[in-house]
Amino acid sequence: METKILSTSDEDIALAAEIIRNGGVVGFPTETVYGLGGNALDAASSENIFTAKGRPKDNPLIVHISGLSQWAPLVKEITPQAMALAERFWPGPLTIILEKSDLIPMETSGGLNTVAVRMPVDETAKRLIEAAGVPVAAPSANTSGMPSPTKARYVIEDMMGRIDAIIDGGDCSVGLESTVITLATDKPRLLRPGGVTVSMLEEVLGEIDVDPAVYDKLDDTQKAASPGMKYKHYAPKARVTLLKGSFEKFAEYIGKNADEKTAALCFDGEEKKLGIKCITYGKENDSLSQAQRVFSALREVDETGAERVYARYPDKNEIGLAVYNRLIRAAAFEVIEL
Ligand code: AMP
Ligand code: MG
Repeated sequence: METKILSTSDEDIALAAEIIRNGGVVGFPTETVYGLGGNALDAASSENIFTAKGRPKDNPLIVHISGLSQWAPLVKEITPQAMALAERFWPGPLTIILEKSDLIPMETSGGLNTVAVRMPVDETAKRLIEAAGVPVAAPSANTSGMPSPTKARYVIEDMMGRIDAIIDGGDCSVGLESTVITLATDKPRLLRPGGVTVSMLEEVLGEIDVDPAVYDKLDDTQKAASPGMKYKHYAPKARVTLLKGSFEKFAEYIGKNADEKTAALCFDGEEKKLGIKCITYGKENDSLSQAQRVFSALREVDETGAERVYARYPDKNEIGLAVYNRLIRAAAFEVIEL
């Protein structure tokens, strides 16, 4: 298939919207990461997304809307808690799960009777959804398992020849996927951490649960509340290990264990002190800068040709929890305590 590279001009957005209405798939920017968009109401369109991404069929898609009026038809009921969250955080990087209506095909919801919905704040995303005139189902625009794309060139790398078009809208501002919360359980439960933090959610909802899969690997007996969390994820081709401890201990470990096939994933400024290939992923005590950098850093690691990567262990506070959640999966849960 020929993949058209489009700009954010009105003409190109109209073309992309037409592709989506006709059941095709378009890569497009949002504030979180690039998405692979299709018509959320069309089962065949969702199937095309799963095929392009190589995504397991039981891992549901997030449905993107451009206005509140698009939400009600997709769900059984917009609960007062759901409305309170939407009023506070939409448009923005929060995805809200509720029981789905019959309009959402099982192909879109991964066979679940719930649906995840989000209203992006990114202008291009908003214009595309409006022009399409349908809710747009979109997972991250990477090949399943790879780091999520925060730049158009990474979408091109993964999806050229596999989808109908890619809109180049520059770099994503948040850099990590949305926070996912379910309100389809008795008590609100965080399924995936992101730019909207636990404390921000608790300001609106009171205490919430945090799914155990946010921190740890599920064992074979546990059922994943968020199907996406059970898969190895976000990983570069190189094997990644997190090293927990001070920078001094990190440098000492690198000194003893690194060879020419090893790279370090470290914080800004540390690259001058390590003497091996280094990719930085933000400032040490600044989780926001780490969030913006972590996925491109994981892609850049592969561009160095490294086979082994030792990564600095991030702070888990606030948005740092989301950085940790992605890195620990990129490392397939491999951590060494220094
Ligand atoms: P992505 O499409 O790559 O941003 O990933 C979407 C994430 O949201 C995955 O981890 C999904 O498993 C999760 N998700 C989407 N819809 C639901 C749902 N209805 N119930 C639980 N998790 C969901
Ligand atoms: Mg993804």
